[in-house]
Amino acid sequence: MSIEQPAAFRPRVITDVLRPSSVGEVVDVVRSGRSLHPFSKGHNWGLGSGLPVHDGAVVLDLSGLDRVRALDVDRGYAVIEPGVTQGALAESLRGKPRIFNLTTSSMHTSVIGNALERGFGVHRSRTEDLVGLEVVLADGTVEHVGWWPGTSATPRPHGLGPSLTHLFTQSAFGVVTAAVVRLLPRPEEVRVLPFTFAGDDLADAVDALREWTAQRLIPPTTKLYNPVAAQFDGYLAHVCLSGAGEVVEALSSVLRGAAADSPLVEGPAVDAAVLGTYAGDPDPADTWFVRRTRGCPADRLDAEVGMLMFLPVVPFSGAALAVTEKLIRDCCATTPAVTVNVHDFDTVDHVIALAFPAHDAGAVTEARAALGRMREAFAAQGFPAHRLDVDRPGEPTGLQARIGLALDPDGVFAPSRYSAGRYSAG
Ligand SMILES: Cc1cc2nc3c(=O)[nH]c(=O)nc-3n(C[C@H](O)[C@H](O)[C@H](O)COP(=O)(O)OP(=O)(O)OC[C@H]3O[C@@H](n4cnc5c(N)ncnc54)[C@H](O)[C@@H]3O)c2cc1C
Repeated sequence: MSIEQPAAFRPRVITDVLRPSSVGEVVDVVRSGRSLHPFSKGHNWGLGSGLPVHDGAVVLDLSGLDRVRALDVDRGYAVIEPGVTQGALAESLRGKPRIFNLTTSSMHTSVIGNALERGFGVHRSRTEDLVGLEVVLADGTVEHVGWWPGTSATPRPHGLGPSLTHLFTQSAFGVVTAAVVRLLPRPEEVRVLPFTFAGDDLADAVDALREWTAQRLIPPTTKLYNPVAAQFDGYLAHVCLSGAGEVVEALSSVLRGAAADSPLVEGPAVDAAVLGTYAGDPDPADTWFVRRTRGCPADRLDAEVGMLMFLPVVPFSGAALAVTEKLIRDCCATTPAVTVNVHDFDTVDHVIALAFPAHDAGAVTEARAALGRMREAFAAQGFPAHRLDVDRPGEPTGLQARIGLALDPDGVFAPSRYSAGRYSAG
């Protein structure tokens, strides 16, 4: 058995691919002591998809654990397994008074995989959706961390005492076999206001969006697309307003007035695919995703389209975005698709996606070189990546290494993108 080897990365020697279908089977695999690389669906495109960092790992594909174990729309949580996709969770909430925070990736991606990677949904970071984890540790014990149904009447992400949930995000300290995720109240209305502006106005437009965010005219969820990502003749900002209809209407009117004093001009209305993602609607056709991959469906992405992603975190300011725009131009022969996600009042990330025909060796070489140049140039400005790929992993800090060694002294879990060296290496 094998897994897809995405063209953008060094091919890995995979010893075996195991596909358990129950927690008991996961425990048995962990107890066998082989060097394991777990993933949920393996759709981490641009960062290595399902590949481990080193050769010789056994890939543990958890997509067969795909039950929604519980759904409580009154208290606002779901208990799900790694194979539950965001499309499946959205489907199970159809017509109910709650929605889930969807990402703009494929409906076939895993809710747990994305949350463990600290991915971003359209309403907030997936880390904020996560309130509890069920984890199989290296010694084969099954532990529950964070909040679980039955412990208190409402989900409380940090529980009592040291909060352990995020020991297991961007980590290789265990295999996650289930999670509790929070559900958002279904808003009465969801409206996405599109604004456009010219490249020369980038800094002023970003400063206007920051001011609107700082003054709470808009939530810290705006997405900004460069013309390549927007597939439009100009930059595009999507500002989402949601809640009671009167509030959405009043804020829209305030924003239209505020835009008149800025370079932001109201753009073409968003269509049902974009709006549906914000509204938490399932889209079995993956419409928005396929549009952004220029027609390539999720199941053919790695085979047909090579992809490298660079995700630096950057201050939320016009001056900083003017710098990053120039760095991208200087480092890349062809302008890549860039999406800027607002994280909070002070911070945005960039998702810089270098896409190329998977079997064009020259294009692969050029994309890797451009990524290398961007990493150096962005690091020099203090703008490091917040998600790493398999060919450019990070090292654990001293304390992370000590915790890793205590939890997994025999190295049952293969080194990860966030701790490429063995914990004992230091
Ligand atoms: C067009 C496009 C749009 C995208 N939009 C977004 C977006 O809006 N937001 C976003 O965040 N990303 C986005 N992505 C990137 C990516 O597709 C998603 O982050 C996706 O959710 C990751 O794949 P996955 O869910 O299958 O996770 P996986 O690949 O299964 O998991 C990711 C990593 O988490 C760890 N892991 C996963 N499951 C387990 C487990 N059970 N136990 C222990 N460790 C585990 C592993 O290290 C694994 O490599 C986009 C990609 C594309 C191409």
